[in-house]
Amino acid sequence: MRNLPLPQDESSQLFKARDVYETCISNARAPLRTRLRRIRNTVENEAKDYDDKAKKQRLFRKPPHDRVRGVTKDELMKVYTDRMVKKKSPGRSIYERILLAPKHRICPFCGIGTANTLDHYLPKSEYPVYAVNPSNLVPCCEWCQGEKKEYYPRSKGKQLLHPYFDDVENELWLTAEVVEGVPASFRYFASPPDTWATFQKRRLDAHLKELNLNELFSINAGSRLSEIRSRLIKLHQKGGEIAVREHLSEELESMEADHLNSWTSAMYRAAIESDWFCEGGFRDT
Ligand SMILES: [Zn+2]
Repeated sequence: MRNLPLPQDESSQLFKARDVYETCISNARAPLRTRLRRIRNTVENEAKDYDDKAKKQRLFRKPPHDRVRGVTKDELMKVYTDRMVKKKSPGRSIYERILLAPKHRICPFCGIGTANTLDHYLPKSEYPVYAVNPSNLVPCCEWCQGEKKEYYPRSKGKQLLHPYFDDVENELWLTAEVVEGVPASFRYFASPPDTWATFQKRRLDAHLKELNLNELFSINAGSRLSEIRSRLIKLHQKGGEIAVREHLSEELESMEADHLNSWTSAMYRAAIESDWFCEGGFRDT
């Protein structure tokens, strides 16, 4: 999981939920426009409450809802699809600004895929008042969105990591272990420091489970092992397991400097820790 700053405009000012909403509905026609405008204070107040609860890791307390005063769920969902996502719609430039924010466009939920859509952290089908709330719109890859679907947290420990509000990048928590076999594979799990609260550990587990990241990381680790196998074989022939470990350690140093909890960092840590792997377990025959 990668942390992202809250969405900002070209002048590095945070997008305000009310402004985004008003921009999106600006081309609506009466009488719909009148009804949409009537709830702008609610949209603004709910957005403030969203930020407040997200900072305190309490978004699970927000109850799903069907309508916002006189405006239906479908109408609010259309504010997003027709007035923000659609090309040439009034909110499109905001949509693109949020979508293009991650470095190298990498999905913040998994750290692997290319972010090519926006995910509603609290799904718009359950929380239509947040359909165009910038704090609720997170760049996301196809894998993560396909796994997450309409998921929303029903308890404190079931809240997925929120890239705008949860910063878990500085302490080591993503671990992998080598699964011995031909070829070797890698299994991933969360193992944060003991000082973390139980619900925080559960949040990491929920994040990996609900987005099926163990499988995604394992697939990528298998592919990475194929790429580096011939190098490892040569190193082993020349200098045995010491040479293999030295090489992996050098690579790991660079990876950890980039992201401590990336799937690659966890993969290389696991490989280095496994005598079986460094003594030749990396071979595929
Ligand atoms: Zn992803």
